Amino acid sequence: MAAEHAGDLVPALRAALGARLRVDEPLARHTSMRVGGPADMLAMPESAAQLADVLASATTAGVRVTLLGGGSNVLVGDGGIRGVVVKLGRGFSATEWSETDAGPRVRAGAAVQLGRLARAAVARGLAGLEYAEGIPGTVGGALFMNAGAYGGDLSAVVGAVEGIVPGGGCIELRGDSLRFRYRRAELPRGFVVTAVTFALTHDEVDAVRARMNEARRRRLAGQPQGNPSAGSIFKNPNGDFAGRLIEGAGLKGARAGRARISDRHANFIVNEGGARASDVKTLMDVAQREVWERSGVWLEPEVQLVGSW
Ligand SMILES: Cc1cc2nc3c(=O)[nH]c(=O)nc-3n(C[C@H](O)[C@H](O)[C@H](O)COP(=O)(O)OP(=O)(O)OC[C@H]3O[C@@H](n4cnc5c(N)ncnc54)[C@H](O)[C@@H]3O)c2cc1C
Repeated sequence: MAAEHAGDLVPALRAALGARLRVDEPLARHTSMRVGGPADMLAMPESAAQLADVLASATTAGVRVTLLGGGSNVLVGDGGIRGVVVKLGRGFSATEWSETDAGPRVRAGAAVQLGRLARAAVARGLAGLEYAEGIPGTVGGALFMNAGAYGGDLSAVVGAVEGIVPGGGCIELRGDSLRFRYRRAELPRGFVVTAVTFALTHDEVDAVRARMNEARRRRLAGQPQGNPSAGSIFKNPNGDFAGRLIEGAGLKGARAGRARISDRHANFIVNEGGARASDVKTLMDVAQREVWERSGVWLEPEVQLVGSW
């Protein structure tokens, strides 16, 4: 359905967004894995009003909307994405720090880089985001994914979430209404996060910095560096590690085209340059099958597969 209406939407979106609308935009440019075909339309609104316009126009035209943050946890198919891909622009990158009766707060726009926010919090002696320093991507994507590492995740510090629903209305949700679970927050269907307020706590700058440095040390020691990737490909199954199971199946270093299961960490697939999304998917399929046959565990993707395959 989306394809036949998509072209009709271009003039309306062009009027609302100007140069912040791109047609047939290659999404490999917008994902950390550097794979994926084009979006029919890539809309990059700079304000809540522009975003509301885009969502309302797409809803009226019956055109599908796909959200992209920093693209560090998505795998876009080689066929690209039909309809509109929405990626929030720098207009959603403000941070406001405040001190309330309940403690320090920071309200961060959904396009703020999570790692940058974590470093800024540490520099102010604020605890709660130390583990997040090396997690690429945006506050919006991190909220949706309930991003976390080394025992911490966003669920512990989310005070409130602001966003826009498909019809264009703005709403605010309390953090404790989001039913966070492992790598997922429960959001209303089609809800676009525009800002998150984090509830942090005061601590000694040196103590917070030491925890962040320890998280960085563990990340550098354990994860592949250099080649494009999408982070952990599979969720860790209950009581085990996806990387351990994939390594146990003898798949470290396995290749498909220009994609490879990392020698450093078997739950990472890296793009050695020129990989296709189908190469990555082939390796994911092999890992799921081999781990199932060897261990009886069906690995569930952590990375979000979107678009046409
Ligand atoms: C090298 C590397 C290391 C990583 N390490 C970690 C780690 O330690 N821990 C971890 O949890 N993750 C890790 N990741 C995965 C990834 O960085 C996180 O999941 C990150 O939070 C995704 O944010 P993003 O902005 O890139 O979202 P995207 O990948 O663009 O999107 C992820 C999902 O969020 C949705 N989304 C994006 N923006 C919004 C919005 N504004 N409103 C509503 N929904 C939205 C998208 O539709 C999509 O379903 C790593 C990735 C890489 C490449």
